[in-house]
Amino acid sequence: MNDQNVPVSRTSSASTVARLISTQFLPTWRYVVHTAYRTAKNLVYPPVCVNCGRVGFVLCQYCQAEITPIKGTTAPVKSIKALVSIGVHDGPLRATIHALKYEKNRQAAVILGKLLSERVIPQEWPFDIVIPVPLHVKRLKERGYNQAKLIAEALASHLETSVVADGLQKILATETQVGKSAQQRRTNVESAFSVNPAIAPILDQSSILLVDDVCTTGATLEACADALLQAGAHTVYTATASQAQYTDSSPGTATDSIFLP
Ligand SMILES: [Zn+2]
Repeated sequence: MNDQNVPVSRTSSASTVARLISTQFLPTWRYVVHTAYRTAKNLVYPPVCVNCGRVGFVLCQYCQAEITPIKGTTAPVKSIKALVSIGVHDGPLRATIHALKYEKNRQAAVILGKLLSERVIPQEWPFDIVIPVPLHVKRLKERGYNQAKLIAEALASHLETSVVADGLQKILATETQVGKSAQQRRTNVESAFSVNPAIAPILDQSSILLVDDVCTTGATLEACADALLQAGAHTVYTATASQAQYTDSSPGTATDSIFLP
């Protein structure tokens, strides 16, 4: 990573952010331990491509080449400055996210974080900290981990920055967004998220990179961004592994997007 690509912290809050992250939130040592564990495990049980079954890769180069990329940025909702994603929620990318969320394939987050970093780094966004979209505690217990947090940690390892894993909390156990209209999705997650009071001091005038696995209408990102901005954040950038195609007329099945570039 060259100097141009290192996220620039503003001097007004940089020292405070760095101190609080290093003393309370820094997950880097966990990432290093997990990486070492994965390496050892891979020697015994080599990964298998989630899309084609080729041995030795979580997502092989051939399947990576089949991803429909989304280059450039968009801003699906007002409270978000910009959004970048690896590609369209389809084919190998969808298979990788599915493996992470529903097959307990945590290694899928590593490749998603790497591919997502290739979208985020060129933007040179001046964010101070990375925060994942949280799961409600009930869903977290069911799944055993927050997939957005794993993607955020893998992404942050390439950005040479840190993740405030519990910066946001999901305080309402909302219904699934699948099958809902855009307005129903917004209503469903409205007020579902709150900022962890412990990080309030470092949010003041900070710029945040919010990370999630999939963006469909942007309703979840909007609810999270609203909570961060109300708590004092200056700007919210967002990065999701994929963007799902969606229309109000047939949510979940349509082929046209309401905001894809
Ligand atoms: Zn493959």
